[in-house]
Amino acid sequence: MTPLLRAQTGDLPHAVPSEVTRPFWDACARGELLFQRCEQCRSITFPPSEHCRGCLARGQVWEASAGRGVLYSWTVVHRPVTPAFEPPYAAAIVTLDEGYQMLTNIIDAEPDDLRADLPVHVSFRRTGGDLRLPYFVPA
Ligand SMILES: [Zn+2]
Repeated sequence: MTPLLRAQTGDLPHAVPSEVTRPFWDACARGELLFQRCEQCRSITFPPSEHCRGCLARGQVWEASAGRGVLYSWTVVHRPVTPAFEPPYAAAIVTLDEGYQMLTNIIDAEPDDLRADLPVHVSFRRTGGDLRLPYFVPA
């Protein structure tokens, strides 16, 4: 049986990559998940920023995430705010093993399968257009 929660296939509205975020999106296109770490205090900053959110220093370096973590919170959306999204989908916050959190969607699962601390891993999927998004699937 095909899982109810699937990756989006339409041409989704999204931000245009900036100088700061382009390395993240370029890595997604290669199937790699990146995050920034501060060279001064070693804090992780995500989503990407020009400054460390811990000490405000510049000088962030990119590191590769293993792409594994646990489900922190989620909601299953049945009435999307724009017709570009095909419901249902599960908007979620995942806590990565490296210690940072990211907003994503859980796919290849049934809504009733979702629970706090569910082990998940990243799975890159191409949407309509040329966007490749880091979704998460149950591990
Ligand atoms: Zn810092």
